Amino acid sequence: MKSNATPGAGVTVVRGAVFSCPVCGAEISVVRTGGGTMSPRCCNTQMVLIKRVNPIYVCPTCGSEIMLVRGNKERLEPVCCNRPMKMPVAGSL
Ligand SMILES: [Zn+2]
Ligand SMILES: [Zn+2]
Repeated sequence: MKSNATPGAGVTVVRGAVFSCPVCGAEISVVRTGGGTMSPRCCNTQMVLIKRVNPIYVCPTCGSEIMLVRGNKERLEPVCCNRPMKMPVAGSL
């Protein structure tokens, strides 16, 4: 498998990307990207970038953002300011 995930080198991530710790099962999700490369560690081990990307929804009125961390997005109907929140980054990976 071709990847740039050389230990310690870091990877470029998208918003919603998820890293998992192979030792304790901790998961982190990227809320904001700055264009740098990321190489999070947990339990003295390199965390693994997993396939899932958490969907992000934005309120068109106030700009609030939420991230679906767990569950089924087919059933999710996020509402803010009395309006449905929208996914701005759908398909960007
Ligand atoms: Zn850990
Ligand atoms: Zn709002």
